[in-house]
Amino acid sequence: MIATKAYAAFDEETPLAPFNLDRREVGEHDVQIEINYCGVCHSDLHQVKNEWGGTMYPIVPGHEIVGKVTKVGSKVTKFKEGDLAGVGCFVDSCRTCPSCQEGLEQYCEVHNVGTYNSYELDKKTITYGGYSSQIVVDENYTLKVPANLDLARTAPLLCAGITTYSPIMQWKIGEGHRVGIVGLGGLGHMAVKIAAAKGANVTVLSTSPGKEQDAKELGAHNFAVTRDPEQLKSLRNSFDFIIDTVSAPHDYNLYLSMLKCDGTMILLGAPSEPSPMAGFSLIPKRRRIAGSMIGGIQETQEMLDFCAEHNIMSDIELISIKEINTAYDRMLQSDVKYRFVIDMATLND
Ligand code: NAP
Ligand code: ZN
Ligand code: ZN
Repeated sequence: MIATKAYAAFDEETPLAPFNLDRREVGEHDVQIEINYCGVCHSDLHQVKNEWGGTMYPIVPGHEIVGKVTKVGSKVTKFKEGDLAGVGCFVDSCRTCPSCQEGLEQYCEVHNVGTYNSYELDKKTITYGGYSSQIVVDENYTLKVPANLDLARTAPLLCAGITTYSPIMQWKIGEGHRVGIVGLGGLGHMAVKIAAAKGANVTVLSTSPGKEQDAKELGAHNFAVTRDPEQLKSLRNSFDFIIDTVSAPHDYNLYLSMLKCDGTMILLGAPSEPSPMAGFSLIPKRRRIAGSMIGGIQETQEMLDFCAEHNIMSDIELISIKEINTAYDRMLQSDVKYRFVIDMATLND
C-alpha cells in the first residue's frame, strides 16, 4: 500500500482536516500520479455536506486532478514516468455495457466508479479523491494533459470544462445560436469560454450585478441580472439554448420563458432540492428541458485538446489546502473568481 496524505470531511458539520489513507499498489494497467493541483467543485461541497444523500465518511473530495506520473504498471502504453496526467470525475466503469462501449462511461449501466465517495468495481473498496498527495488510476481512465497549458489553470477542465463542453457538442451549440448561461461560477465561466470559442452569442444570466465586467472579459456578449425584472423583459423568447449551472434551488420557469420556440434548456447544476416546473413553461413554444452529466473519457481528451488549441483555461484562485473551508464558505456566497484550485504541495506545510 502507498501511504498518502489527504484532507477529509469526517461528518456533515466539522471543517475538513488532515487524513492519512493508503493507495493501492500500482497494478499492470495503473499509473501513479503525484497530484500537483486539484480544483474545488461545488459537487465536492454538496457531498461533504451530504446534500445528495449517501455520503460515506470520511470523504476525501476532489475530481479535478492534475499532476505528474511517478510510476507506471508493466502493461501501461499511454504514459511514462514524468508525463503530465489528469483524472476527472470517475476512475473506472464496467467497460462492457452499451454506454461504456460508446465512450459514455459516465452513464455506465452497471457501475460508474466515482473518483471519491464511491465503491470500486469490487463493491468493497471506497474511493478517495484528489485533495491528496497522490492517486493510482487505471491508464484507460487517465487523461493526457497538454503541455502548453498552465497546469493549475487546467485542473478545473477535468470537471467544469468537460461538463460544459459535452452538452455544447451534443447540441452542436455554436455560430448562429443565442445562448444563455445561468450562474457565473466554476461551470458557468467555462461554459462562457467554450460557447464563445464555438462562435455562439453568449449572455450571462446572473444573480450578482458585480460580475458583469468579468463576464464580458470571459467572452460573454451580454449580461443580465436575473433579480431585476426590467433587465429580463427583452430576453423573453430570445435564446436557442440555456445552460443552467446553478447549485441552489431556483425557478426554472423564469429561464424557460426566455427560450425561443423549440429552444432547449440544459440542466447541469444539481441542487439537492427539487424546483417546480409548469407544463405551460414548455407547451406553448414546444420548448425542451434536458440534463447532462460530465463527459466520457474520449470526449474529455477531445475537450483538453480543444482547450489547448484555443488556449482556454480556467480563471482560478490558487489556495493552500488549509484554506479549503474558507473556500467552501465563499463558494456558498457565490464568491468564486471563478474556480478555487488547491496547490497540493501545501499538504506538506
Ligand atoms: P459554483 O462555482 O458555486 O457556481 C454556482 C453559481 O450559481 C454561483 O456562482 C452563482 O452564480 C449561481 N447561484 C448560486 N446560488 C444561486 C441561487 N440561489 N439562485 C441563482 N443562482 C445561484 O458551482 P459549480 O462548481 O459551477 O457547480 C454548479 C452546480 O453544477 C453544482 O450543483 C454542481 O454540483 C453541479 N455540477 C454538475 C455536473 C454535471 O455533470 N451535471 C458537474 C459538475 C458540477 P451568479 O453569482 O452568477 O448568480
Ligand atoms: Zn465536479
Ligand atoms: Zn458500463
